[in-house]
Amino acid sequence: MFIYLNDKVVPSSEAKVSVFDHGFLYGDGIYETLRVYDGVIFMADEHLRRLFRSAALIGLDMHRDISGVKLAVYETLQANSLINAYVRLTVSRGYGPIGLDPDLCKEPTFVVIANAFKDYPQAFYSEGIKLIIAATRRNLKEALNPQIKSLNFLNNILAKIEAKKADAHEAIMLNAAGHLAEGTISNIFFVSDGIVHTPSPECGILDGITRSLVIEDAVKSGMRVKEGEFTTAELYRATEVFITNTTMEVMPVSRVDTVKFKVGEASRALLKKYKQEVNGYVKEKKGEGPSLWE
Ligand code: PLP
Repeated sequence: MFIYLNDKVVPSSEAKVSVFDHGFLYGDGIYETLRVYDGVIFMADEHLRRLFRSAALIGLDMHRDISGVKLAVYETLQANSLINAYVRLTVSRGYGPIGLDPDLCKEPTFVVIANAFKDYPQAFYSEGIKLIIAATRRNLKEALNPQIKSLNFLNNILAKIEAKKADAHEAIMLNAAGHLAEGTISNIFFVSDGIVHTPSPECGILDGITRSLVIEDAVKSGMRVKEGEFTTAELYRATEVFITNTTMEVMPVSRVDTVKFKVGEASRALLKKYKQEVNGYVKEKKGEGPSLWE
């Protein structure tokens, strides 16, 4: 396996980061997750713009531009002979003496890890997955802006631990006001009275790229979509529930706590539409990237 570290691809055994890295010491850094279908990075510009937005929000100088990052991703894919992949981009403040001052670090640490994409079990899509409502609340958005995809992930990890204890796949966190926020790595949707509901960005969530696309798809398909503040009780009364993210796409839910749901028409239609979006995108962009596989 090969890793892109700072300015070149190296074997994973040589991909080492300093113990003085502020990503390690303080979680001071950002990340992004990308999905590559048939050699095309899906929604590459949206993901890379979001990476740069995260960097700007923490005052991190990336020391490279979007096209440089894209090229690094392609080089990593090529080195690992991957065309269907999951890519994790990590950028930390870099290494420097102990202390919180970001100016102690002169250069960011930049890492690209690419792995073959392993499909989720088909049963997850046909039968749905189990969720819990976590006791752990989502960080207050005024304390840590959820638009920063931060390396500081303990809030989500604590909720994930709760999910694991309950033998659930994902935990949904409420915000400090008790409204639905989001999953540890996903956004949540539910359908009630034929309307697709999802917490609005004001609830303190990451405005997921998949979420935005699914909202667009729902509107294009003639569904009504309502973004707002919703309670657990409203979620429990829904006819369908699903979650979204870059790797799961549209994942139906069969259970939230003890409440059961059927995989419904809207979830199925939106997953199908999402896959069509992916296929259309891949067809359009194929050959646009560097022809590294020739
Ligand atoms: N919310 C959180 C907290 C996440 O970590 C993620 C993905 O990593 C999402 C939502 C979904 O975002 P996207 O659809 O852009 O993958």
